[in-house]
Amino acid sequence: MAKIAMMRCEKNENKCPLTDDFTCIDKKVQGFEKYDECELVGVFTCRCPGDNAVGLAKILKSKGAEAIHFVTCTFSKKTDTGWDATDGGFCDHIEKIAEKVHSEKGLRCVLGTAHLPEGYTPKVFE
Ligand code: SF4
Repeated sequence: MAKIAMMRCEKNENKCPLTDDFTCIDKKVQGFEKYDECELVGVFTCRCPGDNAVGLAKILKSKGAEAIHFVTCTFSKKTDTGWDATDGGFCDHIEKIAEKVHSEKGLRCVLGTAHLPEGYTPKVFE
């Protein structure tokens, strides 16, 4: 069974309890559809400018995480017609953060959790 973790953004931590993300993990859909089985081992919050992400990833790895999923709202914005990855999310450098976590901690990093924009394929650093 794959052990996974999530990294959320501080800009949304008091508005979103990650309900849809947990549902998608349970159902293995959206950003988690590649897993036959997966277990969530932890969730942490990135804080601007993102310097804490590698340290948090180290802890998640120590808890067994093999992959970290960065929540969809970091790179995608909700619009009247759905989620839009071309319009930007909360973070203008989430790819650099994910790449750094991957290169420094050897963890698979995935951009995407719930409500993926139409036509979007999760970007993976591995
Ligand atoms: S660095 Fe990016 S992902 Fe991290 S808290 Fe700031 S905006 Fe959010």
